[in-house]
Amino acid sequence: MNACQKKSVSCFACCGLANLDLNAATQRSILQSRTQEFEALDMDESRFRSFRLDREKKEEGIPRKNSEIYVCPFLGYLEPSRPGCMIHPARTGNPMSQNYSFYGASICLSYDCPSKEKEEQSGISLYSDFLEAEFPEEYHRLICDSALFTLLETIPDFPDSVCSGDKKEVFRRFIGLRLHHPDAAHLTSFERLMVRVSDKDQVIQELFLPGDQPEARDLLQTMKQKGP
Ligand code: SF4
Ligand code: SF4
Repeated sequence: MNACQKKSVSCFACCGLANLDLNAATQRSILQSRTQEFEALDMDESRFRSFRLDREKKEEGIPRKNSEIYVCPFLGYLEPSRPGCMIHPARTGNPMSQNYSFYGASICLSYDCPSKEKEEQSGISLYSDFLEAEFPEEYHRLICDSALFTLLETIPDFPDSVCSGDKKEVFRRFIGLRLHHPDAAHLTSFERLMVRVSDKDQVIQELFLPGDQPEARDLLQTMKQKGP
């Protein structure tokens, strides 16, 4: 288990699904359709390339939120309600099977967003555990939110100081405010704000809706204070 695949939820921000300008129900039906077509290949790698080209063709007319971000058709359902990579080596038994994708195995296997990278380095999964428990429906929108994560890293002793104990409720409210912003629905794993203490106001303005900004500022201040 890691930040991409947790016990009960998964993140698939790197694979581009959210870049399709579709509502959640239609995104789910795209995943379902890909999964059915992929399963019909019976894990025959000689058919992976044509699957990819065919699905790219079928999906090319769907508007993208960002034309620069690729949408990989190998993202499907690994099990009901769990999206993931259908050609991951854990499924194919071939360590290079993701070479059938646009990015290729080396990128697919090695890319870590900032929150995943931090958890891999520290061996501490408190943040992803918190999101899994408190925001299961929005997990995939939050764990990849690199701009938010960069701001959270300015909190002393994050994640320990806010994912449990007295500040947990404050933290939950703060994350809830972030979800009000429509940009939180665009998965931002490839963005990273450079946050300095001196420009935290600017970051608050970018991450939270105007009506939420005063409260977000107060909550952040509370989380940065030592003690309860
Ligand atoms: S954004 Fe992070 S957690 Fe999500 S799929 Fe990519 S590496 Fe995994
Ligand atoms: S091949 Fe790479 S980009 Fe495509 S679904 Fe798998 S991990 Fe994601």
